[in-house]
Amino acid sequence: MGAGPSGLFCAINSFQKGKRILILEKKNSPGHKLLISGSGQCNITHAGEISDFLEHYGDHGRFLRPALLGFTNCDLISFFARSGLGMVQEKGGKVFPESMQSRDVLNVLTAQCRELGIEIKCGQAARSISRIEDGVLVSCTGGRYRSRLLVIATGGCSYPATGSSGDGYGFARILGHSISDIGPALSPVIIKDYPFSDLAGLSFSDLKLSLYRQIKIKEHRGDILFTHDGLSGPGILDLSRYIRAGDLIKISFIPEEKREELEKWLVEKSQNDGGKKLTTALAGMPLSLPTGLQLSIRLTKRLLQISGIALDLQLSQLTREKRNRLIDNLTGLSLVVSDVCGFNAAMCTRGGVLTAEVDPKTMQSRLVQGLYLVGEVLDIDGDTGGYNLQAAFSTGMLAARSIKSTFKPS
Ligand SMILES: Cc1cc2nc3c(=O)[nH]c(=O)nc-3n(C[C@H](O)[C@H](O)[C@H](O)COP(=O)(O)OP(=O)(O)OC[C@H]3O[C@@H](n4cnc5c(N)ncnc54)[C@H](O)[C@@H]3O)c2cc1C
Repeated sequence: MGAGPSGLFCAINSFQKGKRILILEKKNSPGHKLLISGSGQCNITHAGEISDFLEHYGDHGRFLRPALLGFTNCDLISFFARSGLGMVQEKGGKVFPESMQSRDVLNVLTAQCRELGIEIKCGQAARSISRIEDGVLVSCTGGRYRSRLLVIATGGCSYPATGSSGDGYGFARILGHSISDIGPALSPVIIKDYPFSDLAGLSFSDLKLSLYRQIKIKEHRGDILFTHDGLSGPGILDLSRYIRAGDLIKISFIPEEKREELEKWLVEKSQNDGGKKLTTALAGMPLSLPTGLQLSIRLTKRLLQISGIALDLQLSQLTREKRNRLIDNLTGLSLVVSDVCGFNAAMCTRGGVLTAEVDPKTMQSRLVQGLYLVGEVLDIDGDTGGYNLQAAFSTGMLAARSIKSTFKPS
């Protein structure tokens, strides 16, 4: 059920002569979300070591170990190469089809389904599922289907217009599974009293972000982007699975370890160059000095305003109190999250079918024999960089292998 990457790939690889495979798809054509992945270019996987993948799924990497090691990024690249679709790697390791077209990835999958005689019935939204003596009964918009075996590959909740609107959770629940708290992941965040609206578009590389809910709960490094109402960029997107409304994010434009060095530099500069404007001094701060970051004049001015310092203040007028406030904001500017953007903006769903109830070596339900769960419907969500599609393909393949070895044609 579900003609996204995990469902299509599972169907293709579980094909056996003499067995009928039917994919039920809610939308009028398959792979709507795949088509918009990577802004239509499809960042299909990452080129890193497969053993390093595990840390890119928050707290759930361990569950994916057998799937990822059993069908790696190299295996995925080889699969598409055998079908005539080469891959290219970007600086930073993201892997894309060489045509930079998601459509070509989908075409390979649907062409293989056609060749193998796997039927994809579109416009068939599953409405209900019940267990029957020898399997399951699925009722759809256009009919009822019985099967000994069912794969739920209905995705998560993000971008619901693509067809993935959380139906799979309801079906899994009816069949006895528990669903962990669902929420948007890989999502920008909205900031309360956001001070950078007019600086939207400004981006920064490799900043430290600390997330607090009373105590510090996570620390992360990554690139960030100012939007018109909050923060985005890979650093925030990857952290977003942990962020909730009301949390506090501290951004370190300058590493906290450099605090003393920065203070010393400001004190010396005030003594030796007191007539100079603070704004000019900060913007001209050489990279070799404490920052490690060339502060743009626009950001510098805004940080001075936030710190309650006049923009025309001369270095000689910088009191210790003002200096400390400025350094606090440079090394850890506190911003309160008013909300995490919803499912219409999130690229992934955190939460899903509890992984403890699914066998990580087969993707088969531990509760219902013949029920498999693959892809984003599971309680797994990856970082940006191709990790979600790799998980969809790897879990799809693992289920397919188990189906082939368990359910042989009679
Ligand atoms: C904007 C955007 C960009 C992204 N870019 C990337 C990227 O570049 N790289 C990356 O790794 N990941 C990316 N992702 C995430 C990635 O696309 C998903 O994780 C992946 O598609 C999940 O695959 P899936 O097969 O589990 O589910 P989906 O792709 O969501 O497919 C599920 C299918 O099930 C169907 N379905 C749902 N309910 C029913 C029902 N009741 N009956 C029948 N059919 C049903 C849906 O219509 C859908 O076709 C992106 C996501 C978004 C939203």
